Amino acid sequence: MMFPKWLTKRVNFTGRFKATETLLKGLNLNTVCESAGCPNRPECFGEGTATFMILGDVCTRDCSFCAVGNGFPLPIDPGEPLRIARAVHSLGLRHVVITSVTRDDLPDGGALQFARTIHQVRSLNPGVSIETLIPDFQGSTEALLLVIEARPEVIGHNLETVPSLYNSIRPQADYHRSLELLKFVKLTNPAVLTKSGIMLGLGESEEEVIEVMTDLRKVGCDCLTIGQYLRPSRMHVEVEEYVSPERFERFKRTAHDMGFSRVASAPFVRSSYKAGELVGGLLRSFS
Ligand code: SF4
Repeated sequence: MMFPKWLTKRVNFTGRFKATETLLKGLNLNTVCESAGCPNRPECFGEGTATFMILGDVCTRDCSFCAVGNGFPLPIDPGEPLRIARAVHSLGLRHVVITSVTRDDLPDGGALQFARTIHQVRSLNPGVSIETLIPDFQGSTEALLLVIEARPEVIGHNLETVPSLYNSIRPQADYHRSLELLKFVKLTNPAVLTKSGIMLGLGESEEEVIEVMTDLRKVGCDCLTIGQYLRPSRMHVEVEEYVSPERFERFKRTAHDMGFSRVASAPFVRSSYKAGELVGGLLRSFS
């Protein structure tokens, strides 16, 4: 399959790129930007922003699209929340995105570490808004409550793809469990913005994408991101289709018509790409 011209990106390691990289390395922090080989890293690091990935850099699941390594993770690092809070301070972030590897080995799936990180970031950085992009905690509402009660402004959980592809793309995940998670967040605290993301180009049909959007609206999901799947290596599932920017634009219009408050839909969109800008106006209206 020909690589389309709209996916060629001029890479510029400018601005604060080096300073951001050095700071994160110095504090021994993981980012999904590096671990997942995100194509937007030069731009985001250059602007002095990053998405923190807590609970180590080894995932207990093996989704066939994801570049994050999997295997046996290390124990929880108790110093990690404070180091993230310091990084947020040094970078001068106003909106922070915190995600994690999936930790099915932990009884709470790592939810307490999310809560500790939220508290620590907030106490060192008053006024900052916090977005968490969480795993499914294997459906544990107790674990999920730990995160909700820490009061992040945004709780995101990505559906990643359409349900017919779960077996091949996310074998340990469950589409309906993920929808239930988003629904539970909204029912527990309607003021929390909920957000989800999907990738296109894995073999899904247009109708299936619309069904996913419909399902997300049914559980009250506020924000949606849609981006192109890019194969991280030859070990990962192949790209079935490079979706045109025009089709991304069409999905964006459809999503807005369905009632999503914020939608980002374009080939290079990732769930944390310009996350603060995406939810900015909404955060003010919720506060
Ligand atoms: S889009 Fe998100 S994951 Fe990618 S570099 Fe930017 S902040 Fe990191």
